[in-house]
Amino acid sequence: MPLHIQSDVIIIGAGPAACSIAASLSANGYRVLLIDRNTNRSSVGENLASTAKPYFPILKIDEERLDNEHLPIYQMGSLWGEGLPVWKDSIYNTNGFGWHLDREIFEKELLDNVIANGAAYFSYATISSLSVEPCTVSFSHQDKDYIAGGRFIVDCTGRNRFLQKQLAIKTIKYDTIIAANAYVNDVNFSDTIIEATENGWWYSASIPGSKKIISYYTNSKSEYLKANRGPQSFLDLFNKTQFVKTKHPHLEAANLSTITYRFANSEKSEKITGNNWLCAGDSAAAFDPISSQGISTAISMGITAGEAIHQKLWKGTNYHVREYESEYDELFSNYLVKRQQLYSMVKSFPESHFWLSNSFHPSTINHKTLNIK
Ligand SMILES: Cc1cc2nc3c(=O)[nH]c(=O)nc-3n(C[C@H](O)[C@H](O)[C@H](O)COP(=O)(O)OP(=O)(O)OC[C@H]3O[C@@H](n4cnc5c(N)ncnc54)[C@H](O)[C@@H]3O)c2cc1C
Repeated sequence: MPLHIQSDVIIIGAGPAACSIAASLSANGYRVLLIDRNTNRSSVGENLASTAKPYFPILKIDEERLDNEHLPIYQMGSLWGEGLPVWKDSIYNTNGFGWHLDREIFEKELLDNVIANGAAYFSYATISSLSVEPCTVSFSHQDKDYIAGGRFIVDCTGRNRFLQKQLAIKTIKYDTIIAANAYVNDVNFSDTIIEATENGWWYSASIPGSKKIISYYTNSKSEYLKANRGPQSFLDLFNKTQFVKTKHPHLEAANLSTITYRFANSEKSEKITGNNWLCAGDSAAAFDPISSQGISTAISMGITAGEAIHQKLWKGTNYHVREYESEYDELFSNYLVKRQQLYSMVKSFPESHFWLSNSFHPSTINHKTLNIK
């Protein structure tokens, strides 16, 4: 017989979006249940933008601890098209510097705070069925079966979009960017830099644990991804860079880890709210990492989602849930325009499919031409 759990809000996933919603709801006295399957994914050297700072008190994030456990980003260098590299100092940001995160530590801290505030959490759980009318989720955890009942369901499963798949809601894709990531043990180099090259762009930074990450962002149909994708072909391309290469002059294939790949395209769910459900974070909309806004948006919109759910459960009105959807639509439209402006700045490769395809104005994107499914 399955065990029954009753809560107010069931959240699927336990990443930054889920923890932000849980923190907001727990502050208003709701019983929150988080169910996560703990997808095994490698860290890709994500930055937490300083725009997330105003939300730290709700999430109970201690900034001093953040400085000690993660790596502050004081400046960033870029060679974005023609000219010389440009350095931008974090001192000119209104909220100061951001951090290269150790995702495991960061997420554990978020989750510990949420659990301390009363949320129930099931890790390594497998969901077998789900319904939004009424809100129930059946899942198994450590050889036991559970049925959770609630008043509202939230999908925070990142790009997996578990709930939308169940509800047959489409995802709209705006590009096909994939990140190829390699780690290097190189304690001597700590700059954060990006560089535009013919068929994609490079990112290199220190990550916590005396390691560096080097990532190459390119279209999924690029020659590099079609051909041999081992460390040597990664290094051959890397050696054609001008700026990033100068920071790793003696890099050899043997120093590179296995190359890992992650989808990094911009995409948005066609519908992100319903009568008793909503989605937040990457599950609602996923951003190109060039924007460094995935985690901070998961946090800020997670807190907005928590407030909208509170209004729905307290007053029975859907008004704030609809407002939340409109806010996401506007945020994502603005993001697409900024992204297009950023890619259009690179004029050095006028024949390159990568730069042409990514600098289309969002309203004119032709999904067939881009080969986006
Ligand atoms: C290559 C790359 C580089 C990036 N760089 C940056 C950066 O520099 N700065 C930045 O801000 N963002 C960056 N991002 C984006 C950032 O990683 C995401 O925006 C952020 O993790 C979104 O948080 P989330 O809580 O929505 O989802 P996630 O962090 O993806 O969490 C989803 C959670 O749901 C769980 N889950 C998934 N499926 C199920 C299921 N079926 N059942 C139960 N649980 C499930 C997972 O285990 C996970 O815990 C990058 C992304 C990529 C791919």
